[in-house]
Amino acid sequence: MKVFKFGGASVRDATGIRNLYNIVSQETGNLLIVVSAFGKTTNALEMVLKSWLSGQEEYNDLLQDTYGYHISVAEELFPSSNSSKSKIDNSFAKLEEYLKSSEKCGYDFEYDQVVSFGEIWSTIIVEAFLRHSSLNAEWIDIRGNLITDDRFRDANILWNESTARVRSVFSFKGRNIYVTQGFIGSTIAGQTTTLGREGSDYTAAILANMLEAEKVVVWKDVPGLLNADPRWMPDASKLEEISYREAVEMTFSGAKVIHPKTIKPLHNKNIPLYVKSFLSPFERGTIIK
Ligand code: ADP
Ligand code: ASP
Ligand code: MG
Repeated sequence: MKVFKFGGASVRDATGIRNLYNIVSQETGNLLIVVSAFGKTTNALEMVLKSWLSGQEEYNDLLQDTYGYHISVAEELFPSSNSSKSKIDNSFAKLEEYLKSSEKCGYDFEYDQVVSFGEIWSTIIVEAFLRHSSLNAEWIDIRGNLITDDRFRDANILWNESTARVRSVFSFKGRNIYVTQGFIGSTIAGQTTTLGREGSDYTAAILANMLEAEKVVVWKDVPGLLNADPRWMPDASKLEEISYREAVEMTFSGAKVIHPKTIKPLHNKNIPLYVKSFLSPFERGTIIK
């Protein structure tokens, strides 16, 4: 099986989700799709949290904007019957209910309870679209399977607790595609945690390690790993193939294209990581191995 990870840039609108479908529908084998929140939703939820924690009613307007964004993407994807709307509505209602409480348990804890919803909503819509397009996909709530400690906002994976659950839930029995969330997990007691900003790449690597995947592909808005950030160096050139060690050095020295923790779980199992462009999916990208 393979693990594909789609980040916020690749799923920021209906066109992006159709493009995701085009990419995954080329695959014939078993596939686990890890998705982050749409576009800048995580930033938007951080603003909701900030506003709510400081007691401003404005938080609700910010939340309604985020709701409107998700519903408009879903409506564009499902013009007649919106199969994801009731699930999205239920999930938003849960967050609204949560935010009605005046009890607050510290920034890091509240951060994870609120910000994690972005990944829940994105995966609901992506999975609904894949099914609507006749793919045999199933939505899995990664919380309850990827178990972490209670270091909220920067949770550590409990490998022993998680591996058996992950292997059992992603069994690929009668199913060849799963859609699940990056970035989030839960404590053994069931409280939601997050793995640190940009953590979805790391989730993809963890799941690939546990499931002994054949490869991981992270789909980005760049042709691959470049020798510099193209935002600052427009003529940066693509690296064809680099070692795990070189990739670790690049990410720890600030290459903000892959989460730094991503490489180790892959290196440990010798699983190659492909960095590829979701805009040119047939191009080779970069191989880290
Ligand atoms: P995701 O959509 O998965 O969250 P990111 O936006 O986090 O993806 O990562 C892709 C961005 O990383 C690119 O748009 C690029 O500007 C930036 N980047 C920084 N350093 C590099 C690098 N060395 N090679 C390629 N991209 C880089
Ligand atoms: N959605 C989260 C973030 O924006 C995780 C990720 O994108 O990898 O940080
Ligand atoms: Mg990112």
